[in-house]
Amino acid sequence: MNTTHRIELGSFTCLVIKDGSESRPRLSDYVASPPDELKDRSLYMLGGVMLVETAEGRILIDAGDGPHRGPRTHEAEVALQEAGVDPQSIATILLTHGDPDHIGGLLTREKNLVYPNARYVLHRELWDAWQAPPSAGLYFPQQEPFVRRLAEHIADRSDLFDTEEQVRPGITAIPALGHRAGHSAYLLEADAERLLHIGDAAFDPLFLEHTDLINVHDTRPEEARDSRRMLVRRALAEEAIVVGTHFEPPGAGTLQEVGTDRCSWSAIPCA
Ligand SMILES: [Zn+2]
Repeated sequence: MNTTHRIELGSFTCLVIKDGSESRPRLSDYVASPPDELKDRSLYMLGGVMLVETAEGRILIDAGDGPHRGPRTHEAEVALQEAGVDPQSIATILLTHGDPDHIGGLLTREKNLVYPNARYVLHRELWDAWQAPPSAGLYFPQQEPFVRRLAEHIADRSDLFDTEEQVRPGITAIPALGHRAGHSAYLLEADAERLLHIGDAAFDPLFLEHTDLINVHDTRPEEARDSRRMLVRRALAEEAIVVGTHFEPPGAGTLQEVGTDRCSWSAIPCA
């Protein structure tokens, strides 16, 4: 599965690149007791990255699985190549969090940097998690050698933030904690057009339509639900396009409020 969708956002061009294999788990695998109306609903999940072309340089939001997970075909890297993007030309990588399907693509099979010239923007809580032992439960235990190596590589190339902060021209990091250590969203603004990349704050737009749902796969589920509500309010207030890492292609859409804790989702047509 490899699909790329282009979104023109003022002077920014965003490419939503879906990467990996799709899955259709049942909502009840994620939500302990779904309301009757949603009992039989499935989720659609597929990973990916987003490339943002700006006047100040190329930016990548997360890096996909990379070559570290089973018999994979590196779709994100292939899609970037097909788009004529040399990994050396990526100036900034914005990280939403540190799960393997988001940071795996940062290192080659030999564990060298895939994007050697980039600076890495991440929440301080994520950076601190990588310094902790696996027993602290802040990353998956099998990730330890990877995160040690990654932290070593990017120690002098990282820009950490603690609170909401403009991290690049037109790009604001918004901590949205609860899913994993340091989970954050990024708000892009160009020529009065806005896009909110919410990472894994919602696996499927269903979690944005029903913001009272609690995902038991979040590390701190109630905090994650509150962050999700905050992002939904923000997306509505900013009239922003919303992109979620695992959303069904095209991976982007808009929200409309239809009641308390209720929104409706419309996927946007992408080129
Ligand atoms: Zn993920």
